[in-house]
Amino acid sequence: MNILVINCGSSSLKFQLIDAVTEEMIAKGLCERIGIEGSQLVYEPTGKDKVVTVTPMEDHTQAVKLVLQALTDDKTGVVKDLSEIGAVGHRIVHGGEKFSASTLITEDVIKAITDCNELAPLHNPANLIGIAACKELMPDTPMVAVFDTAFHQTMPKEAFLYGIPYEYYEKYRVRRYGFHGTSHSYVSHRAAELLGQKYEDLKLIVCHLGNGASVSAVKNGKCVDTSMGLTPLEGLIMGTRSGDIDPAIIEFIAHKENKSIDEIMTILNKKSGVLGLSGNLSSDFRDLQAAYEKGDEAGIRTIETFAYRVTKYIGAYTAAMNGVDAICFTAGLGENNAFMRSLICSRLGYLGVTLDEELNAKRGEDLVITTADSKVKVLMIPTNEELAIARETYAKICG
Ligand code: AMP
Repeated sequence: MNILVINCGSSSLKFQLIDAVTEEMIAKGLCERIGIEGSQLVYEPTGKDKVVTVTPMEDHTQAVKLVLQALTDDKTGVVKDLSEIGAVGHRIVHGGEKFSASTLITEDVIKAITDCNELAPLHNPANLIGIAACKELMPDTPMVAVFDTAFHQTMPKEAFLYGIPYEYYEKYRVRRYGFHGTSHSYVSHRAAELLGQKYEDLKLIVCHLGNGASVSAVKNGKCVDTSMGLTPLEGLIMGTRSGDIDPAIIEFIAHKENKSIDEIMTILNKKSGVLGLSGNLSSDFRDLQAAYEKGDEAGIRTIETFAYRVTKYIGAYTAAMNGVDAICFTAGLGENNAFMRSLICSRLGYLGVTLDEELNAKRGEDLVITTADSKVKVLMIPTNEELAIARETYAKICG
């Protein structure tokens, strides 16, 4: 069965068509600038040339229409007609406390996802638009919602509650939810396979280090803690997000700079992180590493502070699980940047981590990158959220 995986943003739509049985990617692509001038579809059928179509896309329905046309096109298409798409899997950012697993999309589910909109106002409405567009164009094709938050719903209360009046949890469900769950789930399961051990027997720490970044602690097959919170702003220092700060900084800066809370929140989301810390040098670690290697102070302080925060979380989660068997690195930076992995692991000697620098220098493979006698193993595992969504969708439809 072919599964169409859809990841809808406010002005973008990423997709992949995956054969759920062979797990091969049949085609992938991206609609950019939906509703904005200069919109385009980049379509990449596996093994064939990339096709870029610059064409107006007024809304997401039109974007989905173009995607379906591309997939079924006489020349560049990969399926004869829409009947060859068995199901659609939608990435949904926030499922609140309502969804601890993927679910078949019904009218009730759409309503429940809509109820979570205020927890993820930038993401959930866009995800819902994607569902509506597919429903209109493929009314008979079953759809499954796969939530970024679901994997973390196993966290115990002590890990998900904040030290604020309990009534805010009772009234508004203010708590830690965590994100990147599909990636943390995929990578932790893959780690167990690579280690040749039962998932349920392991204590794992997954470091998803990309432009957005989060760490999770997975003990005996369940997520027991994660660094992102009510929103994806908490935790590690990210590309442009601050991660953990003293909440009093918000009031302090608001007074000093005469800014509103909304303005400060925009700064914390869009102008902070390694971008802000480096004095606007870059949010991209490749630029920051180049600056670091040149001995540039901004590059050095940014990289050191980022790595320090990751190390601190690894220590905290080792304590939370009373030990750790393996630490996994994934996402843009975690998968590709040997220098950052090495820097972080150089601070983990107390755990008995010994990196094999030759293995660490490899790229694009699922690998254990520690020496045979390293007490705690370190793995690099390229994440594959689309495949994880396709698997979940297939399991819901056929399982
Ligand atoms: P993501 O959000 O997962 O796409 O990750 C983006 C981050 O990964 C950026 O900071 C990039 O610098 C980093 N990254 C992506 N590709 C590479 C690469 N080939 N080498 C080093 N860093 C990379």
